[in-house]
Amino acid sequence: MTLIKMLLSQQKSKTKKVKLMTSQTPSLSFEVFPPNPAVGNEKILLALDDMKGSAPHFISVTASNNKYNIKETTVPLADHIQNDLAIPTIAHLPAIYLSKEKVADTLRELDAVGVNRILALRGDIIPGVEPLKDFRYATDLIEFIKAEAPNFDIIGACYPEGHPDSPNQISDIQNLKKKVDAGCSSLVTQLFFDNERFYDFQDKCTLAGIDVPIYAGIMPILNRNQALRLLKTCENIHLPRKFRAILDKYEHDPESLRAAGLAYAVDQIVDLVTQDVAGVHLYTMNNAETARHIYEATHSLFKHHSQVGAL
Ligand code: FAD
Repeated sequence: MTLIKMLLSQQKSKTKKVKLMTSQTPSLSFEVFPPNPAVGNEKILLALDDMKGSAPHFISVTASNNKYNIKETTVPLADHIQNDLAIPTIAHLPAIYLSKEKVADTLRELDAVGVNRILALRGDIIPGVEPLKDFRYATDLIEFIKAEAPNFDIIGACYPEGHPDSPNQISDIQNLKKKVDAGCSSLVTQLFFDNERFYDFQDKCTLAGIDVPIYAGIMPILNRNQALRLLKTCENIHLPRKFRAILDKYEHDPESLRAAGLAYAVDQIVDLVTQDVAGVHLYTMNNAETARHIYEATHSLFKHHSQVGAL
């Protein structure tokens, strides 16, 4: 008898049967961002060609909150992914700095190119920049889209460790329930490094009656600058000891930091898929090599039977 079998047989009487199989097929999807219009799309188009080889279930395209015009950035990139690459596409839409007219225009532009999946977002409130009054919360945007463009599939954002504006996780989850009830068919999480926090959040969502699929946002850490930016902007995200050790030890060793960052992300994904996550949404940072590495290391866990159809 192997050691693992011995341990399992000893534990059998004490623990409930572990769920080993699920009928649900987890998805692997990617996030990309449109480059600064002054830089142009050449690099991202090459990266997307490469990413297509990993057969992502869908690709989402971020949108600038108030810096760039969505019409010139997110819409053409989403059009390319949806129509030239034939990969289902989600366009992000942060609305805190948009009027109802502008949102209605953007929905028409996306619809005209066949992109009718939206990640409906409030967007960050930029210090010193007064928000418009039309969309105070993502829920307002979702209600607007439902009324204005009912053919759109709406996805929402969620925060396993709480949104920084929330006084506590309970009120955040209560607001998330309102958001889902307003019409989200699924949710994508903010990045996290501690899977236990994600599982805890999933359980709380279930208790709150949130029953849509939750896609886990995973960001591989590849270099020191990215790590420093992350530490500065994501104060509420728990960094497990194992993760902090990687940052400490390899801070000045780019090759090892990249290798360990990728291995850490793969480890997270293996655990998530094994524990029946609905899907993994990879924050690719437009890096095709990263997406390919993760795909190659984990693709046998994801069974892509179809790219087309509902998410
Ligand atoms: P909301 O759901 O509106 O929540 C914001 C805060 O308000 C929370 O604290 C919530 O608890 C609270 N709240 C919500 N509803 C109510 C209510 N009815 N009453 C009182 N309080 C309420 N930003 C971009 O600019 N561009 C992007 O492309 C982008 N992509 C993202 C993708 C993902 C997967 C995630 C997780 C975030 C993304 N963001 C993006 C960042 C996002 O815009 C910010 O986190 C923003 O601060 C919150 O947006 P939201 O849609 O989650 O807000």
